[in-house]
Amino acid sequence: MARASDIERFWTYVVKGPSTDDCWIWVGAVGDDGYGRFWTAGDGTRQRTMRPQRFLYRHLTGVDLTPDVMLLHRCDVPLCVHVDVDRDASHVRIGGAGENQRDAARAGRQRNRHTTERFASLTRADRVARSRRLRDTVREHGWDPELMARAMSGADSGQDTLW
Ligand SMILES: [Zn+2]
Repeated sequence: MARASDIERFWTYVVKGPSTDDCWIWVGAVGDDGYGRFWTAGDGTRQRTMRPQRFLYRHLTGVDLTPDVMLLHRCDVPLCVHVDVDRDASHVRIGGAGENQRDAARAGRQRNRHTTERFASLTRADRVARSRRLRDTVREHGWDPELMARAMSGADSGQDTLW
């Protein structure tokens, strides 16, 4: 089970959108794969690091995720940690390899309004850059849909005139 101190610290890195179906954006560390990183006390003898959505999923659902079990984002926002025990409300759910393609197709149809390009179609470097831009934006400005959309679209300062 997760330690209370880890859980408390976890939420200091999360910014929730105002609506119940909004994403919950991780504003802590971002790894070079574009996903968040959360360090926990683990078993007390050594630290563990994991993707924050996995930490919360385990905590809220009680499901022990083995390394081969993937979590899929229906919102296509890798930094989103919006886990709910209600499968329909959750942005993150367990998926197998076979479900990946179906999910990708679904995500394409139900594109998050902040998403202008499919995360999976980006290069690794672009994924990291996009996640860090989003993280920095939310960390600095809080939940601001316009700024978030800009961060996710890849528009840099040189393209500001387009907006
Ligand atoms: Zn989400």
